[in-house]
Amino acid sequence: MNAPVNGFRYHWVLFDADHTLFDFDRSAQESIKMTAREFGIDQPLDYADYHEINRRCWEEYETGEIDRDTLRYKRFRLFFEMKGVTADPVTFHDRYLEQLPHLPFLMDYADEILSHLHGRVKMAIVTNGLPEVQRPRLEIAKLTHLFDVIQVAGEVGVAKPDRSYFDLLFEQMGKPDKQGVIIVGDSTTSDIKGGSDYGIDTCWFNPAGLENRAGVMPTYEIRHLSELHQILEDETADQPA
Ligand SMILES: [Mg+2]
Repeated sequence: MNAPVNGFRYHWVLFDADHTLFDFDRSAQESIKMTAREFGIDQPLDYADYHEINRRCWEEYETGEIDRDTLRYKRFRLFFEMKGVTADPVTFHDRYLEQLPHLPFLMDYADEILSHLHGRVKMAIVTNGLPEVQRPRLEIAKLTHLFDVIQVAGEVGVAKPDRSYFDLLFEQMGKPDKQGVIIVGDSTTSDIKGGSDYGIDTCWFNPAGLENRAGVMPTYEIRHLSELHQILEDETADQPA
């Protein structure tokens, strides 16, 4: 285990954005509601169904089965087919995406932990999310200044868990010692697998207590972001999960 610096075990904390710092589901739900109202869609749109379709499409994107443009529209095409909605999924999607950054809901305790860590450790945003959502949303949420590096997959052309994503990231970070770097994220297939393959410590943010099906073990597992205090700061709590 690393020697603590200024009471911190890690010099760099890499945060995933969606479902880790941002309550993406709430933002998406609100944006779909607003867009549906604008489009005059009368059918009730059950968000849980969209969420499941969206999750499957993201998995296809992360495993390389579909590209980013297909991901954008496929999820609404499938959702509208399921609900019998006749609106054009492409224009609906574009409007949905336009509104999304303006609805930046944070996960419980995200604000607190980021403010606490700011100035004490270096922090990065490592996201596979869409560029037109990620940067404006960080700005609107007034969080941009907290991060030393922001790496958006859609901008660099590679995504987590790819090794090349982390190569580019470490380049931007000034090639720090891997032992002093930890990634915190909700996805076992992108955040935890990516970090683990790259040889850095990982913290799986698993608020719902889901079963780990990725076949890769995180260094730590937490249910709430406040647990990061103990992992990042407390020398005596270094028992890997
Ligand atoms: Mg995520």
